[in-house]
Amino acid sequence: MAFIVKRPSSLEKLKILGKVAKFDVSGFPSIFAKKGKKFQRFKFIYPAVGKKGRCVRLFKVLQNNACDGNCFYCANRKDRDFERVSFSPQELARLFIQYYERGVVDGLFLSSAIYESADRSEEKMLTTLHLLRYKYGYRGYVHYKILPGTSESLIEEAFRLADRLSINMEAPSAKYLTKLSPTKDFSSQLLSGLGKIAQLNREKSLRAGITTQLVIGAAKETDREILSFSSKLYQEYKLHRVYYSAFMPIIGTPLEGVPPCPPLREFRLYQADFLLRKYGFIPQELPFDEDGNLPQEYDPKLGWALRNPDRFPIEINKADFEELIRVPGIGRISARRIVEGRRKGKFKKLEELRATGVVISRARNFITLDGRFYPALEEEEKGKPYKQLFFWEEI
Ligand code: SF4
Repeated sequence: MAFIVKRPSSLEKLKILGKVAKFDVSGFPSIFAKKGKKFQRFKFIYPAVGKKGRCVRLFKVLQNNACDGNCFYCANRKDRDFERVSFSPQELARLFIQYYERGVVDGLFLSSAIYESADRSEEKMLTTLHLLRYKYGYRGYVHYKILPGTSESLIEEAFRLADRLSINMEAPSAKYLTKLSPTKDFSSQLLSGLGKIAQLNREKSLRAGITTQLVIGAAKETDREILSFSSKLYQEYKLHRVYYSAFMPIIGTPLEGVPPCPPLREFRLYQADFLLRKYGFIPQELPFDEDGNLPQEYDPKLGWALRNPDRFPIEINKADFEELIRVPGIGRISARRIVEGRRKGKFKKLEELRATGVVISRARNFITLDGRFYPALEEEEKGKPYKQLFFWEEI
């Protein structure tokens, strides 16, 4: 008996390959998932934060979801039973351009599972990118994924065509990667791929830099190990961003019984990461507990301040910029405004300080203003949960 197999249409493929692309993080921490959903009219459009906090809509898709890899956490793993589909380069380029020209999306995020070999899969993605750049004249944003084991010549080609390159490191060391994947090699595939991109980036900067992603909570790694690794990536490989992806168990994978990572943990990692990149902190200064994890009940900057009472209070009219940005409730923008404002005269009232953007309720226990201390009244603070800050920044 003959079976008639219906081939999925391009739109049906887009639904499948756009949905699985969500596992590659490039936008909001998952604690803001609801905020993200507001922007997500279609399953393949994902919000990211662009320049000056503007929300940009990424057409985020896999070229193909058939994989020879068997990562324990992944929806696309070889041994998982689900529908496999693939775009031809022509089909995907045409589809993206249609959405772009209709003003539905602002940029492309292109990745793929690994079928036959990393190079074979990259060649298909690169053909898509070639078509976009040269046939359709697309000059917009492309975030392009380098797959583990891709050869150097293909990385060079991707570097020429994309605005941002990323390669997912997945774990902070080889020891933890083996708990996540039997097929990826930490050093010969991941670190060496990242090293090649970083070398090209040193010669001529990628417009939107290099990023990576770490899966959080599936391999029992600590926050200290994660953030020490991120710090190394920022220092040695000049990464633009490390994205943290809170582990979510997927039915039909070997890790389906492992509890999900709380979104708050992922969020605290983003906050600590921000302190490393923009506030001059080093991993050793972060307020890890005895298990090597960040406190969940307050943000890491407040945690650091509480552990270093000898550094406070600081006098707003005398402290330098670096001291100011270490005060809870004072960010880089308000610190800059304070330094500029002092040229015109002293700050004497809390109201004047508030006008610079300082969150007075958070800062007041750590500062003096013209020699005066304004501690929060105990009743004011009672039962007040520590406000969670989110640092908006570009993709
Ligand atoms: S290589 Fe691993 S993580 Fe990547 S798609 Fe295949 S199974 Fe998933």
